Amino acid sequence: MSIPSSFIDRLITSVNIVDIIGRRLQIERRGGAHWAKCPFHGGGDERSASFKIYDDTGTYHCFGCKESGNAIHFLRKHDGLDFMEAIELLASYVGMEVPQQEKPVDVSGAININTKAAEVFIEQLKSPSGKPIIDYLKSRGISGETAKFFELGYSMERNPSLHSILSPKYEKQDLEDSGLFGSNDNGEMYDRFRDRLMFPIRNIKGEHIAFGGRLTKDKKDQAKYLNSPETKTYKKKYELYGLYEARLVDKRPETLFLVEGYMDVIGLHQHGIKNSVASSGTAFTQEQLRKILSYTNNIYIVFDGDEAGQKASWRAVENALPLLREDIRMNFIFLKEGDDPDSYIKEKGKEAFIKLADEATSFSDYFLQTVKKQDDLSSIEGSFYGCSICNSFS
Ligand SMILES: [Zn+2]
Repeated sequence: MSIPSSFIDRLITSVNIVDIIGRRLQIERRGGAHWAKCPFHGGGDERSASFKIYDDTGTYHCFGCKESGNAIHFLRKHDGLDFMEAIELLASYVGMEVPQQEKPVDVSGAININTKAAEVFIEQLKSPSGKPIIDYLKSRGISGETAKFFELGYSMERNPSLHSILSPKYEKQDLEDSGLFGSNDNGEMYDRFRDRLMFPIRNIKGEHIAFGGRLTKDKKDQAKYLNSPETKTYKKKYELYGLYEARLVDKRPETLFLVEGYMDVIGLHQHGIKNSVASSGTAFTQEQLRKILSYTNNIYIVFDGDEAGQKASWRAVENALPLLREDIRMNFIFLKEGDDPDSYIKEKGKEAFIKLADEATSFSDYFLQTVKKQDDLSSIEGSFYGCSICNSFS
């Protein structure tokens, strides 16, 4: 897809680069100019700011590492976005519509194949073979409308295989790049997903880039969840399941809930909480957090009440530390053992879930509580946190 350069020029002059960078870095005013500590060298903790932002030209320049550019360059480098994602994010900040041009047919074979696969899986869900999956969704309280919104589907256990449907229409290389197929020792491709409830993963533009697949009944030596592998279009550490869908409901959500799984996002949506996202196929990463922070400053991280949840929450704290600023409100919701967001809201309802959010633990409280616990154990780590990082939060 190509964007007219006149639109890009207009976009660059419409956005406020100080505001955009200020959402991501702490800005200092010095001598009428805006400065920040450069995020691109020295790990962001250089002693004095050498990164200057030029309000009038909409550009930035670092006197340390010589990194410079405009708002598009900044977002690509800082947020890890591709060109189109940066354009779309900037346009959403200022309410401009990105001109839609006819997409060339082969913009990406892998995306076309994933898009087609999503259609096939929806058809297979509607077929008689999909009936047990529909029953399963009903038993989880998921309506047809919600299933449609998330484009849920089913991958057949037996024929026709996805490969037999798609291979006559697409190049072998593109089929391999799609992540939907494995290949055996003879080089024959087979369906990676069989007899699974299928969750298409869409990027911020709504393109189908990958799938998650869930078994709905126990099967020996098969994992309950299976995800597409890393591909050219699916970089797991950057992607958030449900972000595109949340933004269909509200382009600039005031808050976002971060949950652990696909079914949590869908279950919350079903019960009226339409602003949740999940990491897909990885533990929660700093890149994902950075992505969330480009849409909202209010984050609720919801963890299951088991030990794995506790560990994951501390990892989230460690990821968050370098990204925190005064205007970011990050809160933690800890569910009781055995609960997850999906089961909680199904049983107790939307109001109870919102109450949990109202009573959530703030980042600083959680940080101090945990550090104190570690300190009491008088570990080396405890005293380290006790004197250096901790002081900046008290
Ligand atoms: Zn620099």
